[in-house]
Amino acid sequence: MTYARKAGALETRQGRRQHDFVRASLMRQLFPEVAELRIEIEFDDGSAWVPSPQSFSYFPAARGFFRFACPCHACNGEFDLTSSVSTLARARSVKPRSTRLEVTCEGQRARENESVGCAMRARVSISAIARSPDDDDEG
Ligand SMILES: [Zn+2]
Repeated sequence: MTYARKAGALETRQGRRQHDFVRASLMRQLFPEVAELRIEIEFDDGSAWVPSPQSFSYFPAARGFFRFACPCHACNGEFDLTSSVSTLARARSVKPRSTRLEVTCEGQRARENESVGCAMRARVSISAIARSPDDDDEG
């Protein structure tokens, strides 16, 4: 080997996600017109075990990072909502706006000696509240 990889933490998906999170731009840079963005996720994989719903709020000082690990422990998948969030947040409207979508995990769940496709479904609700002109705190 003439070329050693030094990025140990990046070898895992979680490590990469953490790496990308740190590099993500702030909400106020990505979506200057958004005062608050909310994401709510409900999970369902058809089994009796249903992960708890998750919800997230993003304010202008938060990092605009919209990839979420699949809640199934053994799964390496993630739900990437980046493009859905961008579409919604960039829509020109002063009213509150929201969208719903359903995403299926494309990860693999590790079993004893094999891995099987993950069927976790995420029902996602994204809503954005636009800044009103009165909120201008910059000057
Ligand atoms: Zn999964």
